[in-house]
Amino acid sequence: MRLSRYFLPVLKEDPKEAQIVSHRLMLRAGMVKQQTAGIYSWLPLGYKVLRRIEQIVHQEMQRAGHIPLLMPTLQPAELWKESGRYDAYGEEMLRVTDRNKRDLLYGPTNEEMITDIFRSGVNSYKDLPLTLYHIQWKFRDERRPRFGVMRGREFLMKDSYNFDLTKEDALHAYNRHLVAYLRTYERMGLQAIPMRADGGPIGGDYTHEFLVLAETGESEVFYDSEITDLSFGDRQIDYDDVGQCQAVLEEFTSRYARTDETHDQDVFDKVPEERRRSARGIEVGQLFYFGTKYSEPMGATVVGPDGAKVPVHMGSHGIGVSRLLGAIIEASHDDKGIVWPEGVTPFHVGIANLKQGDASTDSACEALYTELKARGLDPLYDDRNERAGAKFATMDLIGLPWRITVGPRGLADNKVELTSRRTGESQEMSPKDAVARLV
Ligand code: ATP
Ligand code: MG
Ligand code: MG
Ligand code: MG
Repeated sequence: MRLSRYFLPVLKEDPKEAQIVSHRLMLRAGMVKQQTAGIYSWLPLGYKVLRRIEQIVHQEMQRAGHIPLLMPTLQPAELWKESGRYDAYGEEMLRVTDRNKRDLLYGPTNEEMITDIFRSGVNSYKDLPLTLYHIQWKFRDERRPRFGVMRGREFLMKDSYNFDLTKEDALHAYNRHLVAYLRTYERMGLQAIPMRADGGPIGGDYTHEFLVLAETGESEVFYDSEITDLSFGDRQIDYDDVGQCQAVLEEFTSRYARTDETHDQDVFDKVPEERRRSARGIEVGQLFYFGTKYSEPMGATVVGPDGAKVPVHMGSHGIGVSRLLGAIIEASHDDKGIVWPEGVTPFHVGIANLKQGDASTDSACEALYTELKARGLDPLYDDRNERAGAKFATMDLIGLPWRITVGPRGLADNKVELTSRRTGESQEMSPKDAVARLV
């Protein structure tokens, strides 16, 4: 993309409405525009990052054997009356009436609808296990929408639902999600820690929230510092292997790590004092096994091996796709702006032309631009007639991991400068070597 032809409405001043750094930087970098409380337009730069995050989520879900589909945003009230949640959900649910006076709602989540899809398509245990998921906009009329996309009212969520014959099978689906989540967040450059969460009225130990530690997080968390030494890395895993997936769950959940709702001081006190930490965290996902909570009232049954009909065991597993942008920025920025991890950056590299209009500088930039694209990278070429300082400031603000600076003085020696956004270190090299370093 050439910056002169792009739409990047960066702000010079700090917007007053932003209380936390990620919100401030997303507005300053021209990524989103608030349309009304908790509802945002995704401007080109923000949209690009959102799509990259979404793609990682899709890839890791499908790698783990979960199947994508797409359900609508509007849902009929009848389904929610069947589960008993239509009244119970309360004011977070946005209710809508159509011209025929039918009650609809903008889905805050999809347990009811997916259960309806399941019951009309599956009758036998032989079709299990099954996990379906989608990435779709949700609406929750939050009491306090704030912090930009972190707590929106309309937000993008990945939600998966597993259908299994037995509790054991459902827990394997749970574990497959846990592994997929570990991989997903790591690919985004995040450390998200699975913490024991509150199962609500259904109870049980089978729910974990994934939290990114950050001072601005809305959750209070308590953990054994050893857990922050764990990483999944690039190990290979067979998602069909029950034992392997269970071992990952055990490895990542055996140390103390809980949100305030499940925090137990007596148990926490058994962790050696020097490893006890309390902090704030951002909830970026949750796993939940809830058994037959929806399948029973909604009649989602299968004929089991013995010929008897039984309700399926289910779980639902969410990832806050749009919230992740905020969480990544909270975890990765400095006083100049965003520092995108390579896995989610909107452009791989920026090209800063120090003397726009100078024939040889322009043609060196064009050649770099063309070559980077030919190598499958997505460069942003700052071809505007601006001072070097302004070009650098924009690139630092929008957080591209690499910058190639091209000026007449360097070019006289066949040299450009390659700068890392994260370390700030620059190195002179030929344009050819710069390209080679990036691919
Ligand atoms: P929270 O505790 O922050 O209100 P939740 O527990 O109500 O979140 P879930 O029902 O578990 O949310 O939804 C799955 C994921 O969707 C959450 O882990 C979170 O990352 C994301 N999410 C939930 N509410 C919002 C929101 N209002 N804006 C953006 N993302 C959200
Ligand atoms: Mg909530
Ligand atoms: Mg929560
Ligand atoms: Mg949750």
